[in-house]
Amino acid sequence: MNADRIASLSHAGVRVEVVPETGSTNADLLARAAQLSEPLLLVAEHQSAGRGRAGRSWLSSSENSLTFSLAWKFDGGPSALAGLPLAIGVALGDALAALGVQVQLKWPNDVLKDGAKLAGILIETQSAPNGGTWAVIGIGLNLIMPDEVEARLGRSAAGAPWLARMERDVLMAALLDALADALRLFARQGFAAFSARWNLRHAWQGQLVVILDNGQVLQEGLAAGVDDTGRLLLDTVEGRTTVLAGDVSLRVKE
Ligand code: ATP
Repeated sequence: MNADRIASLSHAGVRVEVVPETGSTNADLLARAAQLSEPLLLVAEHQSAGRGRAGRSWLSSSENSLTFSLAWKFDGGPSALAGLPLAIGVALGDALAALGVQVQLKWPNDVLKDGAKLAGILIETQSAPNGGTWAVIGIGLNLIMPDEVEARLGRSAAGAPWLARMERDVLMAALLDALADALRLFARQGFAAFSARWNLRHAWQGQLVVILDNGQVLQEGLAAGVDDTGRLLLDTVEGRTTVLAGDVSLRVKE
């Protein structure tokens, strides 16, 4: 992949770097955040130690995946960014749909295709030295999902062979444009500008789900979409409740 070509294909006005290999693009940008003065996209052709939430890992390979992180600075503290992973899901969902791939969103941070995970989003934050907060938005997108990787994961996962046929730089530029537009909108209006679109793509609307924390069921109810701050609405036997993302996981009740 080529950084200059990605930047020239994009209208985002964001600096782009491509490295052949690194452990984690999120870790790299977090380490550099204090020195950054403008947004930066870091693309790794191969990411050897990709991260998920709560120390989980993200598997990828140079042939089969697109892995990158985007560092973006926001005014204010990290609490204003609670809905950001969901807004990024909406931006990815719309961008992928425009490229011919229909996806659904699973609360809080997964992009699904045909019910299986196609992309993961991990956002990590750091306070900026002169005020404000750097958000490092990491995305792993499966282009091809080989059977052996699915077997290693021990759960189903999706690929998007249609996108695998696209030139990578063109695909990356299209995603960068969608993400930069979404980040600017989020900075102005917060998650409220995304909630309706998130709900349109909600994978598990009306389904019976459980909220898990370390494998333990905390709550169960019917998934009823998200509110304007990105909390999950859950219709339980005691009525409607809201769930904050934190480190909880969501599963369809078997
Ligand atoms: P979930 O609730 O689905 O477990 P999560 O938000 O806890 O999602 P993430 O942190 O987004 O999970 O992603 C890490 C998890 O994703 C891993 O534990 C693994 O099960 C799964 N995973 C890792 N690599 C891939 C991949 N390339 N494609 C699909 N799933 C993957």
